[in-house]
Amino acid sequence: MKILIVEDEPSMRLGLKDNLEFEGYEVEFAEDGESGLKKILENKHNLVILDVMLPKLSGFDVCRKARENGIKTPIILLTAKGEEIDKVIGLELGADDYITKPFSLRELLARIKAVLRRSDNVKTDDVIKIGKLEIHFATYNAFEEGTQVQMSHKEFELLKYLWQNKNKNVTRDDLLKNVWGQDVFTTTRTIDNFIVKLRQKIEADPNDPKVILTVHGIGYKMISFV
Ligand code: CA
Repeated sequence: MKILIVEDEPSMRLGLKDNLEFEGYEVEFAEDGESGLKKILENKHNLVILDVMLPKLSGFDVCRKARENGIKTPIILLTAKGEEIDKVIGLELGADDYITKPFSLRELLARIKAVLRRSDNVKTDDVIKIGKLEIHFATYNAFEEGTQVQMSHKEFELLKYLWQNKNKNVTRDDLLKNVWGQDVFTTTRTIDNFIVKLRQKIEADPNDPKVILTVHGIGYKMISFV
């Protein structure tokens, strides 16, 4: 999960970075509205935390321009206390949520999770064809030619993470952090075993995988055009 933080106050930026990284998110920054918009338009983040009061281009303008350019990445606005009116404008401009400074870390994390969950549901509401299987991520169901295929919750989560990062290299560390979270007993060997199991279910020939590829020295890559 990649989060972009657009914030001009260095202390706020650092505080957010440390805490979000601790939670297992990958964090990138922009220090003003202009460079923030540029990064948002790269469309590679799962979420944007966007300050409203920014140099060069305000958070509102960034938000509006991002949506005008078809960017669907969820955006949480950071507004200052007393800027009640800002919140309404922000949501009208296409922000997904807002949070008022000063806020507690717990509150922010809860908002982040809620927004990610919502955006996730929108993106994963369809039946997606991955290899031999038709996957319905919203209900964690998998079918092969109409017959239900048993998959564990973890297998679904792994498959979903690979699919959300399809056509990109995903390291074993990414998988450890994002699929297994804080489970300290998971090793890269566990991940490899899960990949073997997934391949048996989705690949036409598990010994010659075409969907979940091994990227030597790095990890894995899911090839998918859906
Ligand atoms: Ca600011």
